[in-house]
This record gives sequence, structure tokens and C-alpha cells, in this order.
Amino acid sequence: MQTLTTHYIDGAFVESHGREVMDIIGPTNGQLIAQVNLGDEEDTRRAIAAAQRAFATYGTSKPQERAEILRRLHRAASARIDDLTAAMVEEYGGVVQFSRLLVESGVNAFAAAEKAIGEIPWVRSWDKTTVTLEPVGVAGLITAWNANVLFMCLKFASAVAAGCTVVIKPSEMSPLQARILVEALHEAKLPNGLLNVVTGRGQVVGAELVRNPDVAKISFTGSVGVGESIMRDGAATMKRVTLELGGKSPTILLDDANLEEAIPAALGMAFMNSGQACAAGTRLLVPSKRLDAVKHAIADAMIAFPVGDPADPKTAVGPMVSQKQFDRVQSYIRKGIEEGAEVLVGGEGHPKGLEAGYFVKPTVFVNVSNDMTIAREEIFGPVLSVIAYDSDEDAIRIANDSNYGLHGAVLGTDLPRARRVASRLRAGRVVINGMTDDPQAPWGGFKFSGFGREYGAYGINAFLETRAILEAA
Ligand code: NAD
Repeated sequence: MQTLTTHYIDGAFVESHGREVMDIIGPTNGQLIAQVNLGDEEDTRRAIAAAQRAFATYGTSKPQERAEILRRLHRAASARIDDLTAAMVEEYGGVVQFSRLLVESGVNAFAAAEKAIGEIPWVRSWDKTTVTLEPVGVAGLITAWNANVLFMCLKFASAVAAGCTVVIKPSEMSPLQARILVEALHEAKLPNGLLNVVTGRGQVVGAELVRNPDVAKISFTGSVGVGESIMRDGAATMKRVTLELGGKSPTILLDDANLEEAIPAALGMAFMNSGQACAAGTRLLVPSKRLDAVKHAIADAMIAFPVGDPADPKTAVGPMVSQKQFDRVQSYIRKGIEEGAEVLVGGEGHPKGLEAGYFVKPTVFVNVSNDMTIAREEIFGPVLSVIAYDSDEDAIRIANDSNYGLHGAVLGTDLPRARRVASRLRAGRVVINGMTDDPQAPWGGFKFSGFGREYGAYGINAFLETRAILEAA
């Protein structure tokens, strides 16, 4: 069993001032796997002070110098991809195939930010006016547990590219993977104080970052409730905020879709990261006239989504991260049944033989209407709601009838038609004919899914201020 007692402040691992010890429980079997000393306000203030000292120099660095640091970070993080993947599997039960993709995506964020540096108009001038883009200052980066390594890398890469120094507060549920990542990044020989990492509770370390006047910007990934509190509490010190929040993303299956391809793609988007994904496509909108065929296709395709040991490369759905998350998913499945939806596959309880960990049955509901709780609220588990529609217009209306607007998908064979439907979705990102990614494309939400964007030049911009200098004569 591992014991972690340090934070990373001013270029070194230092003992925690905070004394609270938290148990880390492995979700696959419910056993204790690690104990972690959580940081307190004092640890956080020390980290902020280190970041502020470092900003005095790093904040004046040239974009080319930052590009060189990003290249070093990319090399350093690349060296630990296997270890980071293994930690995600152990710590939150992420299935190994998907966890590796998340880690690779995080590591690539350093390379993508380096590339994006070249696309940003750092200085523009005309007549006697010069406009420059300046780093906003010390940034507090607060992450969620469900892809913690990816979020840490992505936010840090953008901040480094912009010229900001940072204090990262990883999710308190991700200390093992955070530790490996920090060890890796330490090898990049960064200027002291550019990177500081304090593990601790949101209400303690996170709240100090949000209230501290020396922190200029908060980049947050997590739930809507905490995002609202960050916006509210950050207002006192006029924090710039980026909020990456939840989703209830629609997948529109057009009536010309080829079900043999479209249904596995739709299930893959619903169950990715065992359903614990902000972008999970948890509402599948299908034409009424194809509903029966869709039900059969789903029942047939479920064989490709086995539940089990997340370390097994064949497993598609692992355990939920915690007992709390298990209970939450169970309560939504119960609610769906109570509100009159029909269980097509899955249902309540553990899958047979997997009673020891926090495993749930991947569940597909049919006869769901868009006003049911399971169609409106983010469940954060492998629970898919199938909703029937009558026309493309009806599908677009249902898709947009949500508080959320993070992600969406359109599946169909007539590409111009799929593009037309995609262009009507009120969401920050829409994919056509399957899940795909582009590290230069923006990521972020409409409506309650938050605001601000990450990735590429869009993500770097979120850490910049604009300054104009005008000469009178
Ligand atoms: P959470 O909101 O409980 O916690 C997120 C982070 O905020 C953690 O590090 C936590 O310690 C911290 N925190 C908690 N209270 C705080 C406070 N008062 N002040 C400052 N920080 C505080 O969310 P979670 O359970 O870790 O993650 C799941 C949620 O994250 C889901 O809603 C999911 O949709 C969302 N999410 C969004 C994206 C995206 O890109 N939009 C990506 C992944 C997850």
C-alpha cells in the first residue's frame, strides 16, 4: 500500500502541512490501496506564493522559450504513459484501453499547445498602436477525477504556453496518478514555481485558490454545483474563470443510418469511460419508425460491451469510481423504472460475479420521454436513454431541450444532411458518424455545461489578457 505525504511546491516535493489522512479505496474490489495526506490552506498559500514569485520572471518569457518548455514537458510526460495508465486503472477503475487514450491525449496536449503557440497573434501593431497578449497571472487549475491526468496536462499546457504559473489542485480521488504525473513533469527541469501541485479537498484547497487575491484565473473541470460556487465566490477577487461542467449529450440517429455501424458507435459514446464521461452520449434519439429495429440492434451489440476487470483489455465497462457513485447510478436506474421507462438491457444491482467492487450493469432504457429525470439529469454511469422522434426538426428540438450543451453526435449516411443537423445543435462540440478528436479544436459547453474553451489556441487564449499601448506623438 502506498502512503503519500508530500505536495509539489517551488520545484520540490515538500511534506504536507495539512494533517488529514484520506484512504484511497480501489473500486475493483473495495480494498484500501493508498493513504494520502491532504493539504490545507497553508499548503495552498505556500504554493500560490511560489507561483507568484515565479510569475515575475516567467510572465515576461517569450513564446519561443515557452515552446521549448512544452517540448521538454512532452518528452517527460511521454516517458511515463504506461505508469499513468496503470494508475488510472487501479485508482478509479478506468478500463485500460480507454485510460491509455486519455493519458495519450493528455501527453499530446503539450505538443498541441506548442504548435498552437505559432498560431497566436502575440503582437499586432498599426500606426502608433501596439497590441500584445499578456499572461493573466497565477492560475489555479482544479480537476475532476474521471480523467484527472488529461485535465492536469491540458490545463497546464495551455497555461505554460500563455506564460502563466500555476497551482494545480487535482481531484482528491486521484492522488496516485497525480503523483506519477508530477514526478514525470519534474524531470522536465522547469523553472522553480512554474508548477505547484497541492492535493486536498475542494472546500479547503480549492476554496483557498478561488478566494486568494493572488490567483488571477481559475480553470475548473467538475460539476455544475461547484462551478456555480466558483463563479460566485471568485467574483470577490474578479477571477477570470473557465468552467468545464457536466453534460447530457444527445446522439441523433438519422433515419438513413446504417444500424450495424451506428448502434455500436452510439453505445460506445454512451458507455465510454464506463459512462463516467462528461461527453457521454446518454440520450439516443431514434426515428419512431425504426425503433423496433434499433432495439434489436442494441440487444445484439451489447455483447461488445462486457463489464469486468478494468485491467483486462477486452473489458469495455469497469466499476464506478466509488460506493457513492455506485449508489447514485442505482438510484437513477430505480428512478427510470418508477417514472415508466422500460429496461431493455441491464437494470438494478451488480452484474453476476462482480459483487465485490462498484460494478453496475450497463443499462439501456427505451420508452423514455425527454422530460423524465433519466433524460434530464447527468447520471455519470453507463445508463442510456432511447428517445423516439418523428422528424429531423423534432430530433433537433429534443436534442436542444436540455440544460446542458457540451457535446452531441449525428449518425447518418447522407453527409450534407448530417452536417445540417449538426449545425443546429446548441452544443460546444458535435461529432458526425462516431467519436473523434482534434487537439486544436475547441472543447467546452453552451448553457449549464459551462463557459470558456480548452485545447489548442482557444485553450491558450483563456489564460491571456489583451493590452494596447498607444503613442500620442
Ligand atoms: P466535483 O465538482 O465534485 O469536483 C471537481 C473538483 O472540484 C475536485 O477537484 C473537487 O475537489 C473540487 N471542488 C469541490 N468543491 C470545491 C469548492 N468549493 N471550491 C473549489 N473546488 C472544489 O466533480 P467530480 O465528481 O470530480 O467530477 C464529475 C463532474 O465533472 C461531472 O459533472 C462531469 O460532467 C464533470 N466533468 C466535466 C468535463 C468537461 O470537460 N466539461 C470533463 C470531466 C468531468
